[in-house]
Amino acid sequence: MNNDKVILVTGGSGLVGKAIEWVINNDKGKFGSKEKEKWIFINSKDGDLRSMEATHAIFQKYKPTHVIHLAALVGGLFKNMKYKLDFLRDNILINDNILHSAHQYKVEKVVSCLSTCIFPDKTTYPIDETMIHNGPPHESNFGYAHAKRLIDIQNKAYNDQFGDKYTSIIPTNVFGPHDNYDLQDSHVIPGLLHKCYLAKKNGTPFIVAGTGKPLRQFIYSRDLAKLIIWALREYDEIEPVILSVSEKDEVSIKDVADSIVKALNFEGDYTFDTTKADGQYKKTASNEKLLKYLPDFKFTPFEIAIKESADWFIENYDNART
Ligand code: NDP
Repeated sequence: MNNDKVILVTGGSGLVGKAIEWVINNDKGKFGSKEKEKWIFINSKDGDLRSMEATHAIFQKYKPTHVIHLAALVGGLFKNMKYKLDFLRDNILINDNILHSAHQYKVEKVVSCLSTCIFPDKTTYPIDETMIHNGPPHESNFGYAHAKRLIDIQNKAYNDQFGDKYTSIIPTNVFGPHDNYDLQDSHVIPGLLHKCYLAKKNGTPFIVAGTGKPLRQFIYSRDLAKLIIWALREYDEIEPVILSVSEKDEVSIKDVADSIVKALNFEGDYTFDTTKADGQYKKTASNEKLLKYLPDFKFTPFEIAIKESADWFIENYDNART
């Protein structure tokens, strides 16, 4: 069979990459695989994307017509604070190698992944797509944030000078199967899932840091995957689009912990350690632009998404990133 589209997904072994693979293989509706689309998922074993030679070799081998670019040096607060230069330099190299190779190999479209945590530290809420470059990012992740911001600048420059169609999407906090469950350096949902799992196993209390009051927008990785597939097939702007649930679907950290307790059937002691810092109360992002394009998109209800993530974690505990 002749494939019209060869879609290369970098970061294919990660949280988001695995979710795209799952949707392509399992969604029976419009997001699943289509005839004449060949999907290729790569990870660092296929080549280190910090190296131009390795990146070229990958493009030479697969000859992609489309690229979903997810690969990045990603980490929680602790790593971001400790390794700012690595986060800046590794991500600049990876992104530049991907976009430059895409240009050289005449790739028709690239969709790269930014993040809402790269927005200015001092800003008004809700944040929207026009505000990315309006001021310095938070001190704690300035390396990661500046490297990510440059993708948007590069996309504009490639379009301006050559007419290339490279765009980007901006997810809020992602969670789902294949997450990073490292207790020292994970995001809030996988971290709490792991903690609650251990509390149940060891018969110890489940203690959540902070008051549980801050609100966050979480997106289930399989919902995000559908939206990224939509962006690849249909979103035609160079400007980024925020992929997030609506403001009314923000949940508190207590809601998160309650859902985890329920999903894991945890019946032990469960408390909040209010001596620990809470972080910002709210960092709402607007999904108005997304809803203009996809007014009927159905996000998975939060509790169901947590239950699916918890079930996956329990089944895969021995092989998960812990
Ligand atoms: P993961 O950490 O789960 O996966 C990272 C992926 O990148 C892995 O496939 C990894 O390969 C690959 N990778 C890392 N370094 C290299 C390298 N030098 N060469 C080749 N491949 C490499 O990330 P996520 O799935 O969570 O994130 C995907 C994208 O989404 C990233 O761009 C991230 O910035 C963005 N994002 C994530 C959010 C989140 O909450 N997780 C929120 C907002 C944005 P290997 O497995 O072989 O190491």
